[in-house]
Amino acid sequence: GAKAEGRRTHRFFEPDMDARAKARLTMEQDLRQAMIDGGFEIHYQPLVDLRNDEVSGCEALLRWRHPERGMVSPAEFIPLAEDTGLINELGDWVMQTACAEAAAWPSRIRLAVNVSPVQLKSPTLALRIAHALAASGLSPDRLEIEITEAVLIHDDETALAILHQLRALGVRIALDDFGTGFSSLSYLKRFPFDKIKIDRCFVSDIEVDGSAAIVQAVVNIAAARNMTTTAEGVETEAQREVLRKLGCTQMQGYLFSRPRPASEIRPLLGVCSEKTRASV
Ligand code: C2E
Ligand code: MG
Ligand code: MG
Ligand code: MG
Repeated sequence: GAKAEGRRTHRFFEPDMDARAKARLTMEQDLRQAMIDGGFEIHYQPLVDLRNDEVSGCEALLRWRHPERGMVSPAEFIPLAEDTGLINELGDWVMQTACAEAAAWPSRIRLAVNVSPVQLKSPTLALRIAHALAASGLSPDRLEIEITEAVLIHDDETALAILHQLRALGVRIALDDFGTGFSSLSYLKRFPFDKIKIDRCFVSDIEVDGSAAIVQAVVNIAAARNMTTTAEGVETEAQREVLRKLGCTQMQGYLFSRPRPASEIRPLLGVCSEKTRASV
């Protein structure tokens, strides 16, 4: 009968859900432990100006070196950090560490930092970012916050207020992964972005189908509204050439460099390494 069926269903699903819940709990504990042990590091990926082929910025990308599992992708642990609220502490660490690193770069190099929609729920975020800037000595106009459209979907008053506070500090705001998910051009009206980052999916097939026309349209809209454009995931010389011809401002991708530890990025920016400096 229904009762027996229900019980059977119950018995059938429970161990599985239990295992998943346990795995999640373990990962959450590991995440908290990593916060204490310093298990995180930041890699930086150069942003290259398409007009002169010079590096004009670097994006900070968080890495977690798990004691048993090795490198865990942010795609895996950022959602968990968001669900557990750990993202605020982790995000503050990223901001402080990356700002301190970027303060040692030439002033023409900007720092881009990803900020999750969950972080934009915290009314003290702008204040904490202002502190990170002041502590590092990094000029606010060298910091670029990357947010995704998820922030804009619900027309969240708090998030928009925080973005305006950051803008008032002189920080720049970029719209990340544009063209994915539920992208709508109306989001471009909700906040005056400084930059649109065109998602990798439009870049990877830019030579084969209608992607070039889409990129051209985004570049035109951006120009009309005083925004710059960055193409994400550029892997080939041919893609770079098409993007350059379309008038895209900047590129980012494996073609120029993968994300790398700070020590490997500094030489690319013309900064002497600590060792070199100490021995001089
Ligand atoms: P994102 O902000 O869109 O970052 C770009 C992603 O594309 C990075 O993945 C980067 O390694 C990858 N990428 C760059 N060039 C290429 C390329 O030529 N080909 C391919 N296939 N991929 C390329 P990553 O580092 O795994 O980060 C994934 C996402 O995790 C980021 O996407 C961002 O949304 C999030 N994330 C990373 N670090 C942080 C952080 O500190 N805070 C927050 N809130 N999110 C972060
Ligand atoms: Mg990003
Ligand atoms: Mg992106
Ligand atoms: Mg992405």
